[in-house]
Amino acid sequence: MKKIISIFILSLMVVACLIGLVACNESEEQLLQAYESYVESSTENGEQVLDYEEWLNSRGKKGEKGEAGAQGEKGAQGDKGETGAQGEKGAQGDKGNDGLTPYIGSNGNWWIGDKDTLVYAGIENHVHSFKQTIVEPTCTEKGYTINYCEECKQEFYSNYTEPSHEFGIKFSYSNKVLKQIKTCKKCEKTVEKEMAQSKGLKYVLDFDTNTYILNGVGTCTDEFIVIPDKINDKEVTAIANNAFLSSKIRGVYIPNSVKQIGANAFAKSLIESAYVDAQVTEFSNGVFSDCSQLEAIVIKSPIKKITTTLFSGCLKLKDISLPTNLETIEKNAFITTAFYNTKDNWDENNALYLQNYLIAIVDTNVGTYSIKKGPTLSAEDALYDCQSIRNLSFSTE
Ligand SMILES: [Zn+2]
Ligand SMILES: [Zn+2]
Repeated sequence: MKKIISIFILSLMVVACLIGLVACNESEEQLLQAYESYVESSTENGEQVLDYEEWLNSRGKKGEKGEAGAQGEKGAQGDKGETGAQGEKGAQGDKGNDGLTPYIGSNGNWWIGDKDTLVYAGIENHVHSFKQTIVEPTCTEKGYTINYCEECKQEFYSNYTEPSHEFGIKFSYSNKVLKQIKTCKKCEKTVEKEMAQSKGLKYVLDFDTNTYILNGVGTCTDEFIVIPDKINDKEVTAIANNAFLSSKIRGVYIPNSVKQIGANAFAKSLIESAYVDAQVTEFSNGVFSDCSQLEAIVIKSPIKKITTTLFSGCLKLKDISLPTNLETIEKNAFITTAFYNTKDNWDENNALYLQNYLIAIVDTNVGTYSIKKGPTLSAEDALYDCQSIRNLSFSTE
């Protein structure tokens, strides 16, 4: 039976192909296969078997061709080949250098031609020996320490320090206004600040005169103290002995109500600057002696004498303003100061002047020495060291 059907179908196909009714293609073949399995299952189930034509019609019209489905996603690209033309381009190699080959130079570094690469060739067994050089901060740039190993040329910076100005401090007093003037020694930046009278200083009342004697810092926290001329309408007329001995104050203004300044009143303190308006005619012993930070002092007081001890041990003192009517400058009054010990302050004849005072002449080995300026006073022993000077002439100009 199957064979007969198959032959029948085959002949149908041939006929169909011949008459061109149906395109003789694969889908027709599939139809035939479908018909074949239809016949088989109908036969097995004892159903009536339609002939091919009837079966075709029973399936309804041929459907339109469906739209083509979206293309599937493209697979991930495979790994790059390890080698070969398609591999990534390698990093460019070092530049060739005219055929020069690196070699280890006498300092142990790799050299190429005449150029030290600064790369130490024997680094493995090398123990660094860093030499440190401190670079101070400037007004605007940080400071740091350079650590440098001479052997391997390795260098690094450490211990950064913040930029800072280095202020020298002076006081100026005019029109009853006291100003603190800070001038940077490095960049000359100047900061002016009006000073107010200090509060909290310690006083004792002198019952005889009904005035105050300043006795010390008390509870005052000012670095730069401005001594008031009056407290509760009572004048401040004196500064006691040792009142600021070894004190940490950095500056002082002494008003002209003060008529007496006791011995060692500011000795060994950290004052950098002093302005003395006090109406004293004489300083007691060692008022400013051993003020190791004292750089600038203005004395407006009507004193007649600068004693040997007044500035002794004031190693940084260089900016000195004295009253112009002194009668005595004791010997060696300035000998420890920066003013005395700065060569630039001495003139071409090895003489040191301060305002209208001849402070000292050192032996210049000239027979006649002519004092060019017109000093009103020479300090005691100003010519102590001048054995070879035979004549001294004073200019009247
Ligand atoms: Zn090293
Ligand atoms: Zn500065």
